[in-house]
Amino acid sequence: TIGMIAIDTAGRIAAGTSTNGAKFKIPGRVGDSPVPGAGAYADGTVGGAACTGDGDVMMRFLPSLIAVEQLRQGSSPSVAGEYAIRRIVKYYPGFVGAIVVLKMDGEYGAACHGIPNFKYSVCNKQLGQVTVETVKCM
Ligand code: ASP
Repeated sequence: TIGMIAIDTAGRIAAGTSTNGAKFKIPGRVGDSPVPGAGAYADGTVGGAACTGDGDVMMRFLPSLIAVEQLRQGSSPSVAGEYAIRRIVKYYPGFVGAIVVLKMDGEYGAACHGIPNFKYSVCNKQLGQVTVETVKCM
């Protein structure tokens, strides 16, 4: 999956995911990527999130929506992402996946499970260039 969250100079947010679908490809499969709340979700008053992992599992838990709603409750992006992943892992302990989360004020974070760590790219005015961040997985 390529998942992306962006805030433009006018303060508008968008989130999206694409999938090559290779790993889980069966004819007619839709997957999580185009489903709002599963692959990605954004709310201009709160922030956005995008996920990668087994979409057939993630579609049952809407991790992107869950993470954004956790932001709304005041969680940091990292904590919101961990919460969303934990909701899946409770039922699918073998889940392998990750989520990136961005708040409207620019704070960002990520969470993951089933691999040692997860790398994601960030670009903002402070960093000045695309920077690869690494998060240790749960
Ligand atoms: N979420 C994608 C899918 O299930 C796969 C991925 O994240 O790589 O199609």
